[in-house]
Amino acid sequence: MYKEDTIAAIATPPGEGGVAIVRVSGPDTERIAKEIFLRSGGRNGNLRSHTLYYGTVRDPRTEAVLDEVLVAIMRKPHSYTGEDVLEVQCHGGPFLVRQILELILSRGARHAEVGEFTKRAFLNGRLDLAQAEGVLDLTRAQTDQGVKLALDQVRGGLSKWVGELREDLLDLLVQIEAAIDFPEEEIELLQRDQLAQRIEALNQKICVILNSYEWGRIFREGAKVCIAGRPNVGKSSLLNALLGEERAIVTSKPGTTRDFIEESINLNGLPAVLWDTAGIRSADEEVERIGVDFSLKQMQRADAVLVVLDGSTPLSPDDCLVLKGATKKKCLVIINKNDLPPVLNPGQIEELLPGLETVSISAKTRFGIEELKRSLRGLLVGTSPESPVVLTNARHKAALLIAGSGLKESVRALIEGLPPEIVAVDLQKAKEAFEEIIGIVSSDDILERIFSKFCIGK
Ligand code: GDP
Repeated sequence: MYKEDTIAAIATPPGEGGVAIVRVSGPDTERIAKEIFLRSGGRNGNLRSHTLYYGTVRDPRTEAVLDEVLVAIMRKPHSYTGEDVLEVQCHGGPFLVRQILELILSRGARHAEVGEFTKRAFLNGRLDLAQAEGVLDLTRAQTDQGVKLALDQVRGGLSKWVGELREDLLDLLVQIEAAIDFPEEEIELLQRDQLAQRIEALNQKICVILNSYEWGRIFREGAKVCIAGRPNVGKSSLLNALLGEERAIVTSKPGTTRDFIEESINLNGLPAVLWDTAGIRSADEEVERIGVDFSLKQMQRADAVLVVLDGSTPLSPDDCLVLKGATKKKCLVIINKNDLPPVLNPGQIEELLPGLETVSISAKTRFGIEELKRSLRGLLVGTSPESPVVLTNARHKAALLIAGSGLKESVRALIEGLPPEIVAVDLQKAKEAFEEIIGIVSSDDILERIFSKFCIGK
């Protein structure tokens, strides 16, 4: 399956911290623990599994004490990787923790590759593939909702659902394959109808889950929200008002006439990235046109657009240009500067683009900002999807699309009276797609792609 050597890595992030953890996994773990760890009071003996011990790490070659530590051994198979695992909790200095790792490596362990601990957990059946991917999402989640979705996946929510579908499909395959093995009992016409109905029902379940993908993706990756409008309507002021106390690190993206600004906010558990774009207006100058074109492109790339208008001035041709650019998107119209006497006629917007939701705010006084956040969240994700699990991962989505098309083709084959062999091939395709999600079948390629996204020590 894989080379069963012993791997080690620092499991905590680089830099200074209160505590750092070095993790070891594999057949030499127990020996290495004995060689480098001395319990306080010199009582070494056998360490009990899943028990925390206090003592020192020593280099057996020189007897030099490196640090005071807590260690725990988790003996196989009840460990994260399914192998013997040692965790050394030492003081969190980068030099010190590196020294402890070097010592462990000098005793015969190999430096782990990215994601190798979780990969071993998968290969030893401790996690299936969807659960392993959930672990990665969990380490990257940015909000409580993101954590919840990832945790559901780690705890097997998606795997259980896919497993049940696969079982249902296996039942159907048994019947079809019986018809192949015993051709004289060819599938009766009535039976064909029933089988088609059952397959169709499976496909419906897939459709419900697929519909949750957009919802799950936005929670996982964060929503991209573009703030658009002609110059001086208050886009930057709105950005600052939305950020409030949460002002994050500003990253400037070069390559435009005016750098665009990207900031992250948390919309009640929904991570969102706000793009404040260059002002949009019909431009004569080449340089300015590049900026305006870029802003219009950003509007297309975003999940939602906030079109900002200045409520204290009449609607201008440039405002109309922006509104038209946003028509194909989820869009909120923000009428800003409502602390000033109203001049803009909202009826004009309704006439131009009927049905668009408008929100009246003042970026200056922050009036209406909370309502705007609520409306934006509603626009992006609405209420929870009616789905038993939420799909967050593009790989799972692709596999379910293949499964769905296999099921659809098998229904067509049944109805058209094609031989059972053809029906079985289509159903097999769906079955393999399910198995790819949880990793019952997986190529080295897929594993490489998934685990290379992890960090070392995970
Ligand atoms: P941008 O070019 O669209 O980014 O607009 P700015 O955010 O730079 O704002 C343009 C001008 O409008 C500035 O002088 C702001 O102080 C002013 N401004 C922005 N929002 C408001 C508001 O809600 N009320 C008032 N009275 N002025 C505002």
